[in-house]
This record gives sequence, structure tokens and C-alpha cells, in this order.
Amino acid sequence: HSKNNGKNNYSVYNDEMSSKMRRRLRLEKDLYQALQHNELFLVYQPQMDTNRHTVIGMEALVRWRHPVLGLIPPDEFIPIAEDTNLIVTIGEWILQEACSQMTRWSEMGYVLKVGVNLSTKQFNHDNFLEMVTSVLSKTGLRPDLLDLELTERIAMANEEETLNKLKNLKELGIHISIDDFGTGYSSLAYLPLYPLDRLKIAKEFIHMADHSEEGKAIITAILSLASTLGICVIAEGVETYEQIVFLQEHNCYQVQGYYFSRPLSAQDATAFLGTV
Ligand code: C2E
Ligand code: MG
Ligand code: MG
Ligand code: MG
Repeated sequence: HSKNNGKNNYSVYNDEMSSKMRRRLRLEKDLYQALQHNELFLVYQPQMDTNRHTVIGMEALVRWRHPVLGLIPPDEFIPIAEDTNLIVTIGEWILQEACSQMTRWSEMGYVLKVGVNLSTKQFNHDNFLEMVTSVLSKTGLRPDLLDLELTERIAMANEEETLNKLKNLKELGIHISIDDFGTGYSSLAYLPLYPLDRLKIAKEFIHMADHSEEGKAIITAILSLASTLGICVIAEGVETYEQIVFLQEHNCYQVQGYYFSRPLSAQDATAFLGTV
């Protein structure tokens, strides 16, 4: 930009910054009350097996209905919850809510897993294992119906401690997935060391594969790696029939994405289970 506009741009930039910061401070302040005020809720996105035509899971995704600012996406408030440590109580509520819902579904005769996203601070918290155990016993959920989604960032840190925690989760019978696989700038060396059940191919790669050979190559490389390691794979962000065909041609039958369904309210997710 020209020198003449420099000063002007600078103040526009400043205004933008301060309005972003004001919003952030507002959200941070209000997040403390969000749970008590029942402003948080979960939506569920079906995970399908395209070979058997069944629903194999429902991923729980948190939403915040702010009384004034409206719906706040998790990408915006989960980082705030992490910075303020609120993630510990919010995360426990999310797990409790998702497990209760899955218990109701299993009582209705639906056999599938509920996927719950974990954030780093939550996983690294001292009481994490006790918290999970206590939620499972309170909700009466079969541990093998719980699928915990970890990011590569979690998997990479504190190798020894992470390995022990993962082993403990496996002993309880809990299923473990690595979310957004391939986007975490992490080493692959941890993969054979950890007791993992599944990799979730990041939606970025699925979308990249629509128009690039490189995208396709990344997906087939992940599938081949997982197959060698004996780990399952699910593709996320699947939006088109062409993507499903491509994945099937490479023996990937687990998919999640808008093609089958957007995330649904608990009630709509229950109806969805009834139609498949
Ligand atoms: P994620 O766990 O990778 O979740 C997948 C995201 O992709 C969700 O966004 C989902 O709505 C979206 N998605 C699903 N299908 C498609 C599709 O076909 N196309 C496209 N473009 N997007 C699709 P959402 O719900 O906004 O969540 C964003 C992220 O926020 C999640 O990514 C996860 O990292 C985090 N998050 C959500 N809920 C929770 C939670 O309960 N706890 C924690 N710690 N993080 C959460
Ligand atoms: Mg996830
Ligand atoms: Mg993901
Ligand atoms: Mg993501």
C-alpha cells in the first residue's frame, strides 16, 4: 500500500484489533456463567459405514448460545475456555452430557459410539482419568461405546505420561481416535507407540483431493500407513458422492460429513437413527 495510506490503515487495523479484543473479553467474562445459565448444548453428527449402510457413531460438538451475541462457534470459545481453565468444568459437562445421551440411545437399542473431543488442557489435567471413570459410572455408559478424539498436539506432548494415560483409557475399554490427522505438524513416530484405534483424516485433505493429485496422494498414504499399523480410518468433511466413491476405491468405508448429515440436535439425531 502507498505511504499516504499508511497512517489510515494503521488506525483501521487498531479499531479492528480493539473490537476483536472487546469481543474476546466479553466472551471470556460471559463464559464463566454459560454453564449455569444453560447456554451450552451439544449437537451430534452421524458417522457412517458406507459399506454396511449403518450409523457407527455420533460425534458430539459443543455449541454456545450467547444471550446477546447469538451462536458462538467452538473454534472461537474453546480456546478461551482453555486459556481460562474453564475447559476443565466445561469439558466434564460435555463428556457427561454426551455419555448420558449415548446411554439413552443404547437403551433404545442403538449400538454405536459417541465421539467426544478433548482439548489439551483437559487431557493433561491431573484428575482426567478419575473424571472419565466417574462420568462413565454416573451415566452407566459402556466404556466401549465412548470414542475420545485427541489431537496430534495432545499425542505429541509428554510422551511417557501420554502413553500411560492412553493405556489406562484402553484398559477401561475406551476407543481412541486422533482428530484432524495430518494437520498437526507432528512427528509420525508416536503412531506405533500409542494404543490408538482410529485416525480421522482431516477434512482439508478430503477437500484438497477434489482438485489435486497431491490431495489424493496424502489420503492414500494415510490409508496405507493406518492399514500397516492396524488402525481404522474415518474421513471427515465428506460432502459429495464423488468423495465417497474415491474413498471406497481405497477401502475407506467410514465417513462423516455434510453429505450424510450436518450436526443435529439430540432430538433430530435420534430421528436420524430411526431412519437408517
Ligand atoms: P472437529 O472435531 O474436527 O469437528 C469437525 C468440524 O467440521 C465440526 O465443526 C463440524 O461441524 C464440521 N464439519 C462436519 N462435516 C463437515 C463437512 O462436510 N464440511 C465442512 N466444511 N465441515 C464439516 P464445529 O462443530 O464448528 O467444530 C469445530 C472444532 O471445534 C472441532 O473440530 C473441534 O476441534 C472443536 N470442538 C467442537 N466441539 C468440541 C468439544 O465438545 N470439545 C472440544 N475440546 N472441542 C470441540
Ligand atoms: Mg472431532
Ligand atoms: Mg476433525
Ligand atoms: Mg477440526
